[in-house]
Amino acid sequence: MHKAGFVNIIGNPNVGKSTLMNCLVGENLSIITPKAQTTRHRIFGILNSEKYQIVLSDTPGIIKPSYELQRSMMKFIKDSFKDADIILLMVEPQQRSIKDEIILKKIKLIELPVLILINKIDISNQNEIEQDVDFWKNEISNSEVLPISALNNFNIDLLLNKLISFLPKSPAYFPKDAVTDKPKRFFVSEIIREKILLNYKEEIPYAVEVIVESFKDEKDIIKIETIINVERESQKGIVIGHKGKGLTRIGKEARKELEKFFVKKIFLKLFVKVEKNWRKNTNQLKRFGYKN
Ligand code: GDP
Ligand code: MG
Repeated sequence: MHKAGFVNIIGNPNVGKSTLMNCLVGENLSIITPKAQTTRHRIFGILNSEKYQIVLSDTPGIIKPSYELQRSMMKFIKDSFKDADIILLMVEPQQRSIKDEIILKKIKLIELPVLILINKIDISNQNEIEQDVDFWKNEISNSEVLPISALNNFNIDLLLNKLISFLPKSPAYFPKDAVTDKPKRFFVSEIIREKILLNYKEEIPYAVEVIVESFKDEKDIIKIETIINVERESQKGIVIGHKGKGLTRIGKEARKELEKFFVKKIFLKLFVKVEKNWRKNTNQLKRFGYKN
């Protein structure tokens, strides 16, 4: 019997949501995937095994909405309740409230499994942890509480087992092989391709192939150089656009998305090159990875 589902991690800023995501994804040799053609969630990581698929998403930290941008972020969090199969609420030691009370109310009423993670227990002690567990069990009665340390990998195996036990029976939502063995470069070219699809009409998207020439993951930045191959000189002109505006827009949109995706600053360089009839040319197809 196969299980699969969407797990949403919510919590105040800085409690360790992203750290947990990395820890879970890293632990399982899974890889980080982009939105995967869905607007359901901001998908960040997928954990796969033969028997299950866990689709994890991290939401913006909970803040009290005080202006429009924050309001829309909060709307996102509220919407994300609708589609989730499991809610992970992450808190810190001795935390006694979550910043948006409406969210707390919603969690109390929700009919989904709610797992409260008390993170950073490495900076707490036995006595405080017990107080925290009691407090949160009492505060949100339809929940289970689990103390963890995402940074130190403490109780992460237990968490994973809990998640699997809560997962509904379901076939996988995303291809399993596609998300386990594709390198990061694959997602870079997919994201750029998506932007080209959104910005150009007619034959351009089909005439285009995106090649990631280099991908350098440095300390504070990822430097990426890509080539957009087109088939004809005229297509090159269309992609670049008047005064380069087309290419600039693609670059800007792709960079934004890549930064969300890799949670890191991105330096993105795009070149446009004519590869005559690349679609028909076997050698080129090989280079682009369509043939072995
Ligand atoms: P987010 O805003 O909820 O995504 O939080 P982050 O994952 O960015 O983490 C915020 C800070 O908390 C970072 O400095 C992390 O290193 C730290 N942090 C996360 N998990 C732990 C933990 O288990 N123990 C300790 N001591 N620090 C942690
Ligand atoms: Mg974060």
